[in-house]
Amino acid sequence: MAVVDIPFNKPFISGLELDYIKEAVEVNLNTAGNGIFTKKCHQFFEETFGFGKCLLTTSCTDALEMAAILADIQPGDEVIMPAYTFVSTANAFALRGAVIQFVDSCQEHPGMDEKRIEELINSRTKAIVVVHYAGIAVHMDKVCELAKKHKLLLIEDAAQAIDSYYLGENGKKALGTFGQFATFSFHETKNLISGEGGMLVINDRNYGHRAEVIWEKGTNRAAFQRGEVHKYHWLDVGSSFLPSELIAAFLFAQTEHLHEIQKKRISIWEKYQNAFVKSLQNKNVKCSFIPNYATCNGHMYYLVCSNKSERDDLITHLASDGIQAVFHYQALHKSPYINGLNREAQHLQYAELYSDTLIRLPFYFGLSEAEQERVINAVNLFYTEK
Ligand SMILES: *Cc1c(COP(=O)(O)O)cnc(C)c1O
Repeated sequence: MAVVDIPFNKPFISGLELDYIKEAVEVNLNTAGNGIFTKKCHQFFEETFGFGKCLLTTSCTDALEMAAILADIQPGDEVIMPAYTFVSTANAFALRGAVIQFVDSCQEHPGMDEKRIEELINSRTKAIVVVHYAGIAVHMDKVCELAKKHKLLLIEDAAQAIDSYYLGENGKKALGTFGQFATFSFHETKNLISGEGGMLVINDRNYGHRAEVIWEKGTNRAAFQRGEVHKYHWLDVGSSFLPSELIAAFLFAQTEHLHEIQKKRISIWEKYQNAFVKSLQNKNVKCSFIPNYATCNGHMYYLVCSNKSERDDLITHLASDGIQAVFHYQALHKSPYINGLNREAQHLQYAELYSDTLIRLPFYFGLSEAEQERVINAVNLFYTEK
């Protein structure tokens, strides 16, 4: 096997991360959570995207777990979400005893098929969790209408969707502003990173106080730190969901480069798309797809091969050239965990199809034009030789 010289991901470092960490340690004398850098990050996200209250977390997984507690999910409550997603989307609700109801992907793209949601709604349904796959919006006008009609909570797993928008009846609106809660990830494979990291957005102000308590181990310590109460107490369940200032300092350096990061990532996405729309048009391969109600935030570039062996052969072909391409998401309705619950087996055609046929190409800020051309040529060569 050739050495990997074009990896799937390389973390982007703006240059100021270590300076800000040093500032947290030596100037602010504050390394624990909810300090100056945490507040700067909250303010940045609230002002830049029009989010409600923001709370940094140690991961998007943690933010999802907070959302499940805030949603007051009880054992037996049902939560609707796509099958083609990361484990944490479902696990956060399974931890509270929820029964997860899985929705298929669309035919045209791996995102959740909003037309298949309503058939799953019943008296036990508590929430709809949408996932903006690849940072591309789910049809939010339709989903919001359903949530309103059936009085369900709406939660957005926007892990991949920072700086992405929905173009709807009411104009352009940032993803993460629609649900009562939205969650973001700053894992090193995402657009903005802090190693591991995440954020919960609380758009419904009624939940703001409780969210802060859950965030601080079930206590009102945040209010105590602001001088609003004399002591802090155990008020509710919670956990240690807040990250240290070291992580917030790292993340804040990234936020200052958001514009530059996004410009570069979108140009990488466009270069892949322009090349493959032409070269693969007669090859039975599907290029990435952006519905007319969504924008592209340059999170990932995927292709959909015509079958599993072709996809696996393409990964091997690229690997032999030092290029690391990956697949992901084994659809959750087929997972060993769900199988172990002895539920009625479910067949979701498109979610299963994307598990078998989707491939993600190298995608990172530092990917040079020459490297990207090598990736494009290697994919084209595979399909010319076929
Ligand atoms: C990355 C990702 C997560 C998990 O994020 P972490 O920060 O690693 O916990 C959850 N959902 C989706 C859709 C993701 O892409």
